[in-house]
Amino acid sequence: MSPPASRPPVRELFAQRFGRPCAVVARAPGRVNLIGEHTDYNDGFVLPIALGQSTWVAAGPRSDGRMRAWSQSCEIEQTWPLDDWAADRPAPWTGYIAGVATLLRRRGVPLAGCDLAVVSDVPVGGGLSSSAALEVATALALSCVAGATLAPLELADLCRAAEHEFVGVPCGIMDQYASVLARADCALLIDCRARAWEHIPLKLGEYVILVVNSGVRHDLAAGVYAQRQRECRQAADLLRSLQPGVAGLRDVDAATVERHAGRLGTVCAARARHVTSENARTIAAAEALRRNDLETFGRLISASHASLRDDFEVSCVELDRLVEIVGNVPGVLGVRLTGAGFGGCIVALVPRGSVPAVEEAVRRQYDAEGYGPARVLVAHPGAGASIVEGRRVGNFGQ
Ligand code: ADP
Ligand code: MG
Repeated sequence: MSPPASRPPVRELFAQRFGRPCAVVARAPGRVNLIGEHTDYNDGFVLPIALGQSTWVAAGPRSDGRMRAWSQSCEIEQTWPLDDWAADRPAPWTGYIAGVATLLRRRGVPLAGCDLAVVSDVPVGGGLSSSAALEVATALALSCVAGATLAPLELADLCRAAEHEFVGVPCGIMDQYASVLARADCALLIDCRARAWEHIPLKLGEYVILVVNSGVRHDLAAGVYAQRQRECRQAADLLRSLQPGVAGLRDVDAATVERHAGRLGTVCAARARHVTSENARTIAAAEALRRNDLETFGRLISASHASLRDDFEVSCVELDRLVEIVGNVPGVLGVRLTGAGFGGCIVALVPRGSVPAVEEAVRRQYDAEGYGPARVLVAHPGAGASIVEGRRVGNFGQ
């Protein structure tokens, strides 16, 4: 069972800062992707869980057309006009909030301004999607304050569009879908083309999902992400010219990639090989979970890492070393990098009793070798976003 996410004193912090009670408190979780990496923008499959770690937003309405936001993670309060975010040059982190507010207004939600206090225990910028947690909690809080109700998918799509338009991050749909739709003690299998999803119960028994933050984030991540998107598009375009009916790499199998490897060239063939094999692994991983076959699930996770390292080339020395160290702890069933790569986190399937041994190995090897420092956390597959205080108390994933 996942422990209930306990609410930090966000209501009290709102009252202290703004001198009045808030009207609403919303919560949205971070996520970790178990398998299905770099498949979302290729119309493929992903399999994330939501974390207990969440972002809480307390909100109170204003009627003067202004937005005011304070985050415990940033400390400095920011204000801006609702209709012109850039005018007052607020700090970049407010782009997530301003984007959501603007898109809600564009959709006809009668928001006239708002004060917001933000508290989070999702590591910021660590690959566990603090950005989607902030967007989703904000969107829920703002729509509730304005008396509007959005359908879950509408909420997730609006948040993703806000990240594209106001922050300039061309993310896939996984982060926002996981934060909105997840269910406790389940993984969420998402078909990114059909925008369909399925809750897969996680019966982990004596095993836990362990997340280890490598403590590194290489600057080239954003540039390489865009480059990989281009390479995948290029591979799909070429395969479409050879085989009608290929809309994206999702429509291609491993045999087709090998048949056309010469035409694709070394780089595009390797990228296509990762995407096609990763889609197959993700489907197989969901199937393994359905029949409670954790050993197969673990093997698929480890195979995903090898593919991300060798074919997709998005790993780095630190992640490879961390994967090696954790994978060598007896009993660990699988381990891989998770997220876009070049830093961030790894995810592993570990016997509960071996967690101290993993922590020890990471400290004595990874940290002692001068990497990191790494931080280890046990992931409790948690519920999706909800309004925890206010009019519409409830959870989308249920
Ligand atoms: P990730 O989503 O993996 O944590 P991103 O780079 O996508 O990493 O998003 C991190 C950014 O999101 C931060 O730099 C900040 O601008 C914003 N952010 C996320 N959570 C918060 C928060 N609690 N308070 C303020 N800004 C936040
Ligand atoms: Mg993010």
